[in-house]
Amino acid sequence: MHEVSIAQSLIQILEEEMQSHEGGRLKKVRVLVGELSGVVPDALFFAFEVCSKGSIAEGSALEIVKVPARGVCKSCNREFVPEVPFLICTRCGSPDIEVLSGRELEIDKMEVENGN
Ligand SMILES: [Zn+2]
Repeated sequence: MHEVSIAQSLIQILEEEMQSHEGGRLKKVRVLVGELSGVVPDALFFAFEVCSKGSIAEGSALEIVKVPARGVCKSCNREFVPEVPFLICTRCGSPDIEVLSGRELEIDKMEVENGN
């Protein structure tokens, strides 16, 4: 389950980010997860909850936003929605495609509450 290592690296980034919010509490974090990233949202929710215990992310809410896959074919120049896991053009069948979106795995937004 690679979601555990993903959750760990997300939390590591959050801990670094929180250093600039001294005394603040992390309330919510929004993560973009591309359809082609291979991440299972349910598994990531679970891994995040387990891994965040004892970290600055403990008790924060994780929001996962799925980013749909989109590609463009270099042979026929058509934009299309790749059918996972077959990354070939849906019109001409060419495997020479460029993925425009769907591989995202990044923190989009953090909500921090000031603790005072
Ligand atoms: Zn094509």
